[in-house]
Amino acid sequence: MAKLTVSDLDLKGKKVLMRVDFNVPIKDGVIGNDNRIVAALPTIKYVSEHGGKAILLSHLGRIKKEEDKPGLSMRPVAERLSNLLNKPVTFVPTTEGKQLEDAIDGLNDGDVLVMENTRYEDVKNGENVKRESGNDPELGKYWASLGDVFVNDAFGTAHRSHASNVGIASNMGQTAAGFLMEKEIKFIGGAVDNPEHPFVAILGGAKVSDKIGVIDNLLAKADKILIGGGMTYTFYAAKGMKIGNSLVEKDKIDLAKEILDKAGDKLVLPTDSVVAEKFDNDAAHKTVDGDIPDGYMALDIGPKSIAEFEDVLKSAKTVVWNGPMGVFEMSNYAEGTLEIGKFLGTLTEAKTIVGGGDSTAAVQQLGVADKLSHISTGGGASLEYLEGKTLPGIAAISDK
Ligand code: ADP
Ligand code: MG
Repeated sequence: MAKLTVSDLDLKGKKVLMRVDFNVPIKDGVIGNDNRIVAALPTIKYVSEHGGKAILLSHLGRIKKEEDKPGLSMRPVAERLSNLLNKPVTFVPTTEGKQLEDAIDGLNDGDVLVMENTRYEDVKNGENVKRESGNDPELGKYWASLGDVFVNDAFGTAHRSHASNVGIASNMGQTAAGFLMEKEIKFIGGAVDNPEHPFVAILGGAKVSDKIGVIDNLLAKADKILIGGGMTYTFYAAKGMKIGNSLVEKDKIDLAKEILDKAGDKLVLPTDSVVAEKFDNDAAHKTVDGDIPDGYMALDIGPKSIAEFEDVLKSAKTVVWNGPMGVFEMSNYAEGTLEIGKFLGTLTEAKTIVGGGDSTAAVQQLGVADKLSHISTGGGASLEYLEGKTLPGIAAISDK
């Protein structure tokens, strides 16, 4: 069933609690990259322009002891938000109590308030009480009491049951998705639950063990699964091929055999690889067919595999990509990831979806992101979504 979204709500004069993902890289109070703040702007602006009083909550980093707090204050984030919105933003340096409640009471329609890092609640009086990340029922109830409606736009934490997402939602009459969350549900949820066929999944990255859940879930739904990246060579080993010094998970070879048996010709492995003498961009390297020679490790898929993958992809209507095709961080082994990314950009009739932390970094770094339909904002959350798991943060959003 479709989920309630922020555009379904009557916001005028309402105190709108909003869970956003402001978990930006920060060092000595300086924000490294404000992509996540920028990504949250459409929903914040919408609420403000429709007369809501926006009360923003987010976590920032991990807080395990009192000393972690000063460096992870939300104050610089509130300042950056104010610059980006080009209007004043109230920052409240606490997560509960009179100061916060008074500040909320003082808001006018359209105002924006940011409260302190929700994970400050994880440590109280020096004790690691995990009220936020352990979803303390009293905390969710208290935060819910501060607003009239709840908007959850933080997909990146949707796979966690925390007080600031699930806790608030379970004490609220209505929880709506923000625009970012709505897009994640539409694209990733849509691909997993109701894909347009042919549906092709491209799975790569380092390890089979990280992706077992995704392979299992997508085997039942996809028409083809293209395998690349480091996990390829555990499958090679399972087929009795030579793998040289390539990445391999010996304890997963039997599992890889089972997957190969079950998948039949649905699973497509690379037929050639770029191999190097060392895990080093400057190492001697070459392209080989099939077996990986002794003394070499495979670090990218080869040109023949790229062409074969493109041949499968060209008729696809839905493509989900998780995990790079090679060690894209090194330019000599980035070709596979780059070419597949560029090719996806030409598939204008298909929904092309990228999920996963490194995969997202790869398409952004290689400059192919803006040609794709959807780049997920959540690494861990997108993986669990692709595994077919119910994400508690999404489950807690009201149905339309
Ligand atoms: P994601 O975060 O998108 O889910 P992963 O974390 O599973 O992706 O995998 C990303 C990592 O896999 C990258 O750091 C990349 O260098 C590495 N990788 C890809 N191919 C290989 C390979 N052939 N050998 C070793 N590492 C690889
Ligand atoms: Mg990763």
